[in-house]
Formats: sequence, C-alpha cells, structure tokens
Amino acid sequence: MSRLVVISNRVAVPKARGAAGAQGGLAGALHAALRKYSGIWFGWSGAECTEFTGDISIRRADGVTTATVDLPSQDIEEYYNGYANSTLWPLFHYRIDLTEFEREFGKGYERVNERFAASIAPLIEEDDLVWVHDYHLIPMAGDLRRRGIRNRIGFFLHIPWPPTRLFVSLPFHERLVRTMLDYDLIGFQTDEWLESFLHYCRKELGAEVDDDTGRIVIDGRTVTARAYPIGIDYDHFMAQGETEDARQAQERLTSSTRHRTAMIGVDRLDYSKGLPERMDSIGRFFDTHPDLVKRLVYIQIAPPSREDIENYQKIRTLLEQKTGQINGARSEVDLVPIRYVNKGYSAAELFGFYRASKIGLVTPLRDGMNLVAKEYVAAQDPDDPGVLVLSRFAGAAQQLTEALLVNPFSPDDVAHAIRVAMEMPLDERKRRWQALNHTVREENVIVWTEQFTHDLADFQPV
Ligand code: UDP
Repeated sequence: MSRLVVISNRVAVPKARGAAGAQGGLAGALHAALRKYSGIWFGWSGAECTEFTGDISIRRADGVTTATVDLPSQDIEEYYNGYANSTLWPLFHYRIDLTEFEREFGKGYERVNERFAASIAPLIEEDDLVWVHDYHLIPMAGDLRRRGIRNRIGFFLHIPWPPTRLFVSLPFHERLVRTMLDYDLIGFQTDEWLESFLHYCRKELGAEVDDDTGRIVIDGRTVTARAYPIGIDYDHFMAQGETEDARQAQERLTSSTRHRTAMIGVDRLDYSKGLPERMDSIGRFFDTHPDLVKRLVYIQIAPPSREDIENYQKIRTLLEQKTGQINGARSEVDLVPIRYVNKGYSAAELFGFYRASKIGLVTPLRDGMNLVAKEYVAAQDPDDPGVLVLSRFAGAAQQLTEALLVNPFSPDDVAHAIRVAMEMPLDERKRRWQALNHTVREENVIVWTEQFTHDLADFQPV
C-alpha cells in the first residue's frame, strides 16, 4: 500500500500521551490517515532561525512521522504574514479592500514553497500519495514536479475560492493557477468555490472543463477538481462532551445565565467572521426589542489571531468599541447583555458552553466551511436542542440547510432570526436539529479524509 505524505504550513505534532486520542478536528483526522498509510507530515516548525538551512527535524510519535523545518524572519514576514495572510486570505474571503499587493510578498511566497519542496522531495518515495493543504502552498505541485516528483499529488483548499472577477485583481493570478494544474486532484469545501475555480480555468486559461466531472484539460494535462466538504471529528468531539471539563463548563454558564437565554458565538478574531457586523445586529435586536434585553445574554468567545498583522489589530479595536457601546447603553448594575471573552477554550469546555446555549450565532461574512457551526449542533441536548443561526455565506450553509440562514450584512435579518430562535417551539427545534445532527454526524472529518485519499489513490490520468 502507498504511503501518505501530508504537506501543510504547520504540522500538528502529536501530544505525548494518547496522541490522536487527545487531538480532534483536522489534526486528528490527518493523524488517523497518516497512521493508516504510515506516512509523513511535513511543514514549518513555527520556529524562527537566523538563516534558512533546510535542516529537517524528524520526530516519530504514535505511529506518525513529522518532519519540520525552521524559517528565517524574512520568510515568515513575506510568505506567512505577507502573501498568505495579507494577500491571499483577504482576497479569497472577498475582501479586496483589505488585500495587500506587495511584490516582495509574492517573491517570499514562491521562495518558501521552493524551499519546502526542496526539503521534502528527497523523502518522497515512488508510490507515495502526496496531499498538500491550503492557500499557503498553492504552487507546491509545480515545485515538486520540477524536482522530478511524478507521484499523485492532491491539494485541498480550506478557504473559499473567489469569483473570477475578484480573483483577477491578483497580480500574476494566471501564474498562480497554472502551478495548481500540476496537481492531479484539487478539493474545495463547496460546489460554489469549485464552480468559481472551474469558471476561471475556462474563461481565463482557455482550459477544456467538464462541469459534471470536474475534469480540466489544459496543455495535454488532466486535473480533476471536486468539492469535499470538511466535517468535525464527531466521535472525538462527543467524547469530549462526556468529560468533567465539559460538565463544569456547562454548569458554569448555566448557573450564571439563569432565567435568561444564553446565545453564543465562538470565532477567531478575524475580519472574515463578521464580528463588528454581528454586534450591530445584536444592537439592532436590543433596539427593536428593549423588553427582551433582560431575557438574552450573548457570550462572544474571540481568541486573538494573527496579531502581527495590522488589520487584525484594527478589527479587535473596532469590536471592543462596539461591544463597549452596546454594554454601556444596555447594562444595569446587575445585568450585562454581552460577555466578550478574549481567550480560547478547550474543545471540552466549548462543548459545555455550546450545550448551555440555546442559540448558536455563527455569522461570518465569508467562510470556507465553519466548524463551530457543526460543533454547536453536535453538542446539543437531543431532548431540548438549541437553534443554530447561520450565515448563508459560510460553506457550512450548503449542508446545514435546516439552520436559520441569515444575511450577516443585514442587522434586521439577523435580529429577526434571533427573535425567531428565542421563540421557536420545542417540536420545531427538535425537527431541525435532528436533520442538522444527521448531516454533522455522517459527513464527518474521518469520512472526508477517506474520500479524498481514496480519490487521490484512484486517480488515473487520461
Ligand atoms: N476553537 C477552540 N477554542 C476556542 C475557539 C475556537 O478550540 O476558544 C476551535 C473551534 O472549536 C473550531 C476551530 O477552533 O474547531 C475553528 O474552526 P472554524 O472552521 O470555525 O474557523 P477557523 O478558525 O478555522 O477559520
């Protein structure tokens, strides 16, 4: 059987004890796949060095080999903070207004991709399947091919793919996409992002595209592009719900929100998550229903993210202002309508918080998938489930159609959905939740990993 080589920006090193058991989500699923195929996971260590040496640090734990390299500060600045997170991330989330187009970023990005390829190529054996992850490493296939790697190479994009009209604002966009056509299989989270990609290939590159099969033929090469919506590690997450940490977290929230409906949001502090817009919606809800201020408490968990980048500092300041304004206007001595928490919690604690909350508010302006929405569903009490209010612009909305789908740009729409959620009868809550939970349970991350690796292993160039 082939081995699997996973390449991603960062590597999740297995924890010392019970490795995969301790790790959920994508890291857990990739570990499971790597153990099955006895493979290698390669990426940046997260550490900074003075000069790039290409020295690989190899570790083996719980049946998984990880191989990492350190990067010098210029690479981190231009490749990671620069091109990946200040150019591609905003542009791919439709935020051309926040996108930085710096020549040096593009050069750094290509340089680091080449460095990664040069480091990992000697470790790739003839029959290995190579699976590259995410927007940091789009050109990896081309770099590997130039080093003589003929293996099957797959790529999965965890974030959206923007419409052609937006994407062409990226200098050298054609050069970037042509490097993708060196992959054999390209995965997207949803049909929507897949369609945008196929549209680009047809319109801008003149490729022959079959919309039904996702087959793209260009310059004598064939690539297949498909949608593989990622899920949560359902069993692992449910097991977290059985822990003492989860029970205590649930109790903590329940006892502190007594007689009020707890509504929760859990998001990295990122402008794609629509947090200031969400505060506007909550403000609108309180403005239009002053009688309900006493009945609702909103808990926003927002761990800081990418703090070296200015736009992330700005979004944090804006959110703090908006939260402060609403609380200033609506608080009483014994009542604060919004609890804004600037730190992260474990999966077990989140499980408890989700379960104690009768409304899950997930309103990104644009999101590749959004796993918080799926976790919220999984954590609900089947006999008394809460209501998921979900942005129609999250990838998850294409699967979670029984949620209350909203337009996150419209305070009226979101405020109305909050009202509907607060008043939804138990029968309807159960009916919606059962359908949602079925999707979340069945379309989980283990199935996702298996489908992608299976399709990659099966791939036959024509
Ligand atoms: N998360 C966490 N602790 C926190 C906040 C978030 O473990 O305090 C996890 C959350 O449970 C989810 C992930 O981070 O699994 C966020 O994934 P999502 O797809 O929602 O958004 P992303 O941050 O990847 O854009």
